[in-house]
Amino acid sequence: MSNTLDGKVVLVTGASSGIGQATALALSKAGARVAVGARRADRLKSLAQDAPGEILVLELDVTDRESVQDAVTAAVEHFGALDALVNNAGVMLSGPILNADTAEWTRMIDTNLLGSMYTAHAALPHLLESRGAVVQISSTAGRTAPAGGGVYAATKFGITAFSEALRQKVTAQGVRVIVIEPGMVATELATHITDPAMQALAKSYADSMRTLQSPDIADAVLYALTQPEHVAVNEILIRPTDQTR
Ligand code: NDP
Repeated sequence: MSNTLDGKVVLVTGASSGIGQATALALSKAGARVAVGARRADRLKSLAQDAPGEILVLELDVTDRESVQDAVTAAVEHFGALDALVNNAGVMLSGPILNADTAEWTRMIDTNLLGSMYTAHAALPHLLESRGAVVQISSTAGRTAPAGGGVYAATKFGITAFSEALRQKVTAQGVRVIVIEPGMVATELATHITDPAMQALAKSYADSMRTLQSPDIADAVLYALTQPEHVAVNEILIRPTDQTR
């Protein structure tokens, strides 16, 4: 992938809100042709109306292997290639380990870890063909596990492990693997937490600082994707200035 996004084809998962939505918009403004995937297709359709460039709306559930394969196939059939994948879809259902509803653990692992692996797996043959790039949205929780977020952190540590193995495998073939680790970003991510105490904690933590905004992360994605071909930005850790841990 060359250092201009003009005409490039990028698939963004989890583009119906937050970081994915901002990234899809920024890519479109930079001239990319963007395939956007998520379960809430209505929100993807309004994104397509707001974006300046061509957007392909794909109803996608990353926990469903067939849905992932269909979305990648549809993007490649529509645009004729795939130059980059932004593997962003995720859920954060934080809570204590003791007495946890383990169905939430399954959902996080299925979405954040297996879902992003399925998507990378489905996209990889096309990225090898285009000498493209994979952007893996991890988290500061992929570096330090907080007490209330053990399983979420496990999925993000897992993304880092998978990404490094993938990098070693494909970098010599010109495919760049980029892990982005945001700190606190103001999105709807924490609103899905079901544990009331954890929900309140997440809110007061966010209120205690000037958080990052989704376009801040979109900028990091664009930075990594527009480097010259011989430059692989493998990792970007980006926190709010006010975030101390
Ligand atoms: P949002 O909740 O705003 O966005 C999450 C996105 O993931 C939505 O578009 C949602 O779409 C999508 N998604 C969830 N489940 C699925 C699924 N099964 N299939 C397809 N898409 C799915 O939160 P953020 O923008 O904050 O989160 C984006 C990524 O950034 C996540 O991986 C998150 O872990 C990571 N991150 C966020 C941080 C933050 O502070 N906000 C910090 C560090 C990392 P839909 O519901 O329509 O399917």
